[in-house]
Amino acid sequence: MANMAQDRPSPVRKPPSAETLARFAAIVGEKHAIRDPAAQAAYLTEWRGLFKGVTPLVLRPGSVEEVATILKLASETDTPIVPQGGNTGLVGGQIPFEDGAEIVVSLGRLDKIRTVDPEGNTLIAEAGVTLQRVQEAAENVDRLFPLSLASEGTCTIGGNLSTNAGGVAVLAYGNARDMVLGLEVVLASGEVWNGLRALRKDNTGYDLKHLFIGAEGTLGLITAAVLKLWPKPAETTTAFVGFASIEAVGTFFRDARQRSGPALTAFEALPALALTFLERHVQGARNPLNRSHNWYVLMDVAGYQGEGDSFALAEQIIGGALESGLAEDAVIAQSLDQQAALWRLRESLPDTQRLEGGSLKHDVSVPVARIPEMIERGNVLIEKSMPGARPLSFGHFGDGNLHYNVSQPTGMDQAEFMRRWWDISGPLYDLVLELGGSISAEHGIGRLKREQLVKVKSATEIEMMRSIKRALDPQNILNPGKML
Ligand code: FAD
Repeated sequence: MANMAQDRPSPVRKPPSAETLARFAAIVGEKHAIRDPAAQAAYLTEWRGLFKGVTPLVLRPGSVEEVATILKLASETDTPIVPQGGNTGLVGGQIPFEDGAEIVVSLGRLDKIRTVDPEGNTLIAEAGVTLQRVQEAAENVDRLFPLSLASEGTCTIGGNLSTNAGGVAVLAYGNARDMVLGLEVVLASGEVWNGLRALRKDNTGYDLKHLFIGAEGTLGLITAAVLKLWPKPAETTTAFVGFASIEAVGTFFRDARQRSGPALTAFEALPALALTFLERHVQGARNPLNRSHNWYVLMDVAGYQGEGDSFALAEQIIGGALESGLAEDAVIAQSLDQQAALWRLRESLPDTQRLEGGSLKHDVSVPVARIPEMIERGNVLIEKSMPGARPLSFGHFGDGNLHYNVSQPTGMDQAEFMRRWWDISGPLYDLVLELGGSISAEHGIGRLKREQLVKVKSATEIEMMRSIKRALDPQNILNPGKML
């Protein structure tokens, strides 16, 4: 599929020589230096098929020392490097450009959980450990690692930190950035920075780890991280609630947040079209409520005392909303199976849009209070730009983050729809900015939004970013052409 990004062609670059490639391969051993195009395919295609890259070599280092040696050689030979974790990123940051000049370094073999400290509530994981394994390691010592994404079985901690991932629990626990105490990073020169400190208070100068978090592999290769753990709730209650309007969802959110404080750990909104797509494409998926509603909320309330306290709180909040007529209908999960079935609806949603033809993704955020205005004005703009296009704005309502996706009009040629993407995305991004929002809430910039970044950041901000890049990667060998 053609790239829909407004992507400039990379400057003319030559692929590394055969001799240089042989030196890189020798660092990891031939078994972990992938040259065969068929074996490379999984590393070169992005999840949605939006970007397809070319590389002479995928390297799979098995230790921090090997990563350091790779970067030393990259500096010596001026070879550009593309770091990769689980390849679930949605802005193309982990995919090399098409000129075949870059080497992909996949961190998947750095997959050890080095230590788990339940007393200090920390865990040290290497970059290639999947998010799900980190969650399980926390669970094994009766703790919670709250980062939670639909891609958690595949995405890695290195990728999560490099993208500053968000997900469904930001409301209570923050973004990936808020879950880190220390980092180990291999710098462009090959030097290893050991910043694996497990301190909750450390005001000794610039907090350097935050430069690498959200840097999308442009400033260094993260090899390990000290992650924070939280007390595990004794129980969590999940509910699914139907509403007549997005304004009603907003009023309900304010009330639920006020009454439950940090116990409200997830608050996801889905429009009616989401249920239509789910019922159409996901086997066994059905609306848990008796009839359809214009909007739905999927929410989690955590309880720390056990014995039904989260259930009672959810019942109280939802009962009040039903009584006052704010909510139209609701179901509260009575078992872990029911809970999982409700969450499966939300988690299956991203996949269903592919099956409806072309889909434009807009991972945006606005102040929570302005979400109804964003959706109402956004939908009008979309209809005006392309009559029949189907807006599907769903997501992390509680933290102001909408996946404001748009499916092609039924029956329209998909290629034609994708060609006209800016007719829809341009006015939508303008609206987001007018409402004081961000054009990338959680997925990052990568290749997809690089052209937009310079339009939304001030010249001062861009120059500060470029100065940091120059200081840490003077030869521009780390993921060049991504983000900046
Ligand atoms: P990759 O895709 O491999 O890489 C992402 C970026 O990080 C690239 O720029 C890459 O160069 C860089 N990178 C990777 N590893 C390292 C490293 N060790 N050191 C330096 N740089 C590195 N994201 C959300 O935020 N919230 C969601 O709710 C969410 N849901 C998703 C649901 C689905 C079904 C899918 C497919 C994706 C979703 N994502 C979501 C996006 C994606 O899962 C996240 O961006 C994730 O953090 C990427 O991790 P990864 O290991 O796959 O990284």
